[in-house]
Amino acid sequence: MSVEKTLSIIKPDAVKRDLTGKIIAMLEEKGLRVVAQKKILLSKEQAGSFYAVHRERPFFDELCEFMSSGPIVVQVLQGNSAIELNREIMGATNPEQAEAGTIRKVFALSMTENSAHGSDSPETAREEISFFFSGLEILQFCHPIRVSVNNTFLPFPLRNSLKTLLYKRCSCGSKSSSIFFAVLSSAIFIITCPSMGP
Ligand code: GDP
Repeated sequence: MSVEKTLSIIKPDAVKRDLTGKIIAMLEEKGLRVVAQKKILLSKEQAGSFYAVHRERPFFDELCEFMSSGPIVVQVLQGNSAIELNREIMGATNPEQAEAGTIRKVFALSMTENSAHGSDSPETAREEISFFFSGLEILQFCHPIRVSVNNTFLPFPLRNSLKTLLYKRCSCGSKSSSIFFAVLSSAIFIITCPSMGP
């Protein structure tokens, strides 16, 4: 499993119905993090150049019309196997064939108005990300590793020091750093917990 970036679009049908927050929550729950994001309105020409690969398909005009019919949210997602994971969370292109619980099954209105887009390969992801974002707009940092249960038990000054340490040392997706911090936070928990009784 490697850490990847992928392009995700919340399409006009979903933005119009105020589903942006719900869709982002579905992505974050499965471990994808938003490292760049903006809400924009495409012209029909811009939609056509993004979907240029489908230029010869019968649905191309309808697709470009739809993609420029209202604001969209474009975002870069980062996580382990982000490209495949995002597509799993989105579900099949045709919402009728999408698995239960996927974005398209839950929210899509039709094959065209299918609520979400996700890059389908590392090469496409690179091209699609640079279509919408410059390097400067993409966060080169991710949230610290969550220390949930341990964190609750830590006394305030220690909790803050640990958080600072995690922020400073977080290197996104590095397995060894995850193990290091898991061991570190467990050790602090074991040391401090017995003295934290009610
Ligand atoms: P995706 O990667 O699952 O989004 O699918 P594609 O890259 O094949 O197609 C891009 C978008 O074009 C889809 O998300 C749909 O909105 C639309 N689309 C694809 N196939 C069809 C089709 O057969 N009919 C219609 N109306 N729209 C389609």
